[in-house]
Amino acid sequence: MVAKNHMSTSLDVIELTRHLVAMDTINPPGNEQQCCDYLASLLEDAGFEVELSEFAAGRSSLVARLGGRGEGLPICLTGHVDTVPLGTEGWSCDPFGGEISDNKIFGRGTTDMKGGVAAMVVAAIRLAQDLSNTPGVVLVLTGGEETGCDGAKALCETPEILGRAGAVVVGEPTSNQPLIGHKGALWLNAVSQGVTAHGSTPELGVNAVYEACRAVAKVEDFGFNIPPHDIMGAPSINVGRIQGGININSVPDHAEFDIDIRTIPSQDHREIRTHLEAYLGDKVTLEPSVDVDGVISDASDPWIGEVFDVIEPILGLKPEIATAKYFTDASVLSPQYGNPPTIVLGPGDADMAHKTDEYCEIDKLHQSVNIYEAIIKRWCRLD
Ligand SMILES: [Zn+2]
Repeated sequence: MVAKNHMSTSLDVIELTRHLVAMDTINPPGNEQQCCDYLASLLEDAGFEVELSEFAAGRSSLVARLGGRGEGLPICLTGHVDTVPLGTEGWSCDPFGGEISDNKIFGRGTTDMKGGVAAMVVAAIRLAQDLSNTPGVVLVLTGGEETGCDGAKALCETPEILGRAGAVVVGEPTSNQPLIGHKGALWLNAVSQGVTAHGSTPELGVNAVYEACRAVAKVEDFGFNIPPHDIMGAPSINVGRIQGGININSVPDHAEFDIDIRTIPSQDHREIRTHLEAYLGDKVTLEPSVDVDGVISDASDPWIGEVFDVIEPILGLKPEIATAKYFTDASVLSPQYGNPPTIVLGPGDADMAHKTDEYCEIDKLHQSVNIYEAIIKRWCRLD
C-alpha cells in the first residue's frame, strides 16, 4: 500500500494504476467499494466534492466534481473500476501485481480500464487549483460496467448525484485515439420449450434442441435491411452460446441460446426484437439480457473539433474520424446528460482488453494524462 499523503503530493499515474490493479474488482462479484473509497479520499484531499453511490452490498460508483460555479456545464470524464474475470488460462505474471517491464504495466484492468481511470484522476487533480471559477469537471467512476453498465444505470436513478455535463469523455481503451461513438448492443436469450420423453421413444416428446437448432440456423441468415452507417458500418448478429438437454437418452424439453446483436444509430432495438421474433417463429421466446443504445457524436461539433485540435500535437498526428467496436457506459450516461458530444479515448489497447497477461503501455498512460489535461483546460478555457 502506498501512503495516501505521499500520493496526493506527487500523484503518479503509474503508481496509481498499480495501486488500483492491486485491488481485486473482478466482476462478478465486483467489490468496487474499496477502489471507490480510495479514489474518493484522494479526490477529497485535492478539493473535489465527492459522493459515493452504493448500488449493491460492497459495490459503489463515485461522482467527484470541482468548479461548475461559473457559466456553462462541466465536462464529464468517466471510467469503470470493475474488471472481467481472469479467464481459464494461467497468467505468466501476478494479475494483481502491476509488474513493470519493457514499457508495459501488467495486470487485470491495466488496459480495461484502471489505467484510464488513474490518468483521468491524475489529470483532474493536477488542475484542481485552477478549476474553481470555471465550468469545471465531473468525474464519474463506475462499478458494474462489465456486466452491462449496472453502476451507471443505478447512478441515473439519482440524477442529483450525477449532476449535469456538457460533454463526455470515456476512458475506455483506444490507444489514445479519439473515437466519436460506438455501436449499441442488444443481447437476447432465446429459449425453446419441448416435452420430455424417453430417448428410445422420441415420437412421444417434443425435442427442444431441434427447435433451437432450426432457429439458430435461421439467425445466421437474418438480414437487418438497413444501409450501413457512414462510420460504423453495418450492424451484426452472432450466436455466442447454446445449451440444451441433460443426458443422451432423454428427449430434451429445454434448450436455449444467446444472440449478440450490435446496432447502428438508425436502428430501434424494440423493432429489431419484434422482427427477429416474427422471423424465428413461435417455437422460441426472446428475452433481452443487455439492451444499450449506441452513441454517435456529430463529427462537425465544435467541441469535437477542439478535442482533435488539442490532442493532435500530443499524438503527433491528425486523428481520423472513427468509432469504437465495443459499447461503454456512455450508452447510459450520455442520454442521461441530454446526449452531449461524447468521445471515447483512453490509454489502453482495445486488443488487450479481457486478455490473459493484460498490459497497458507506460508511454500511453503518461500521454493520456497530458491529453485529459489538455481537454479539461480547453473546456474550462484555462489554456
Ligand atoms: Zn471497459
